[in-house]
Amino acid sequence: MVNTLDMSGSATARLGAIEAGGTKIICAVGTVDGAILRRERISTGDPAVTIAHIVEFFASEQDLAAVGIGTFAPADVSPDSPTYGHITDTPKPGWRNVDLRGPIARATGVPVAFDTDVNAAALGEAIGGAGIGCSSLVYITVGTGIGGGIVVDGQTVNGMMHPEIGHTLIAIDTDRDRYRGHCPYHGRCLEGMAAGPAIAERWGAAAEQLPPDHPAWELETEYLAQLVVNLALTLAPHRVILGGGVMQQRFLFPLIRDRGHRLLAGYVRPLSERSAWDAWLVPPGLGNNSGVRGALALAAGAAGLR
Ligand code: ADP
Ligand code: ZN
Repeated sequence: MVNTLDMSGSATARLGAIEAGGTKIICAVGTVDGAILRRERISTGDPAVTIAHIVEFFASEQDLAAVGIGTFAPADVSPDSPTYGHITDTPKPGWRNVDLRGPIARATGVPVAFDTDVNAAALGEAIGGAGIGCSSLVYITVGTGIGGGIVVDGQTVNGMMHPEIGHTLIAIDTDRDRYRGHCPYHGRCLEGMAAGPAIAERWGAAAEQLPPDHPAWELETEYLAQLVVNLALTLAPHRVILGGGVMQQRFLFPLIRDRGHRLLAGYVRPLSERSAWDAWLVPPGLGNNSGVRGALALAAGAAGLR
């Protein structure tokens, strides 16, 4: 493949983006500014078939500068690891130890950045969404699972592994909430207690069907407030963004801010002031597009364009 970067200039360079989720994969081609030129949705099925579809999507692109992948996890995101770009311990049928990045890198012949879907979403929000102007932020999705991504100074944060914020442990009053938890590993971790399937199993109805005065939301508020307080105290991010299907219930935002403020109990500025919470804990600015926007930014990084 020919890289015409020098001729076309960075603003018009074509970048590939892949947001790989457990049920669907969005492939896109766009620019460093986040404009989307092509986009296609592929359902996540058998890995060989699915990856062949992805490769096919990019096959007509003659002058891609790079590709960015934001993937479902767990996955190996360490560039110096021999299994960089592989899905690792997933329970998703057939996907364990699958090399997702390799076939795309070989087929396109361009640099391919590989990170988690939530790190990509965090990056998208930092660059073009609710995190513009924040030098650090955390993006959390509360959906089928709970996941979190971190961006500091325009770069996603990974360490010995990618962060697994969804599986953090929370304090549970078992008199108030007797639910045994939904996580196959930990039972009552945050995801096990507060993701969409936990709400549905606990109450016998999908989260979107529960009215705002349903007791489900008090528990949801408690657990998410604990999470964001712990994030404030460990990472001290300039902003926390809560997205995902469950957070479509916008009334949760003031409830979580109130409860988080009370849990902090007056400790440490600025969040000791309730007024600071309104700008600190917010919904996404890009709706469902943060992941693709972030994957484009990962590609721009791999191409040396940011
Ligand atoms: P995924 O996590 O699979 O990418 P979502 O973020 O849409 O997808 O999460 C799906 C979960 O969110 C389901 O458990 C569903 O019940 C819940 N959900 C979806 N829409 C809403 C809504 N409007 N209000 C509350 N819960 C919702
Ligand atoms: Zn867990």
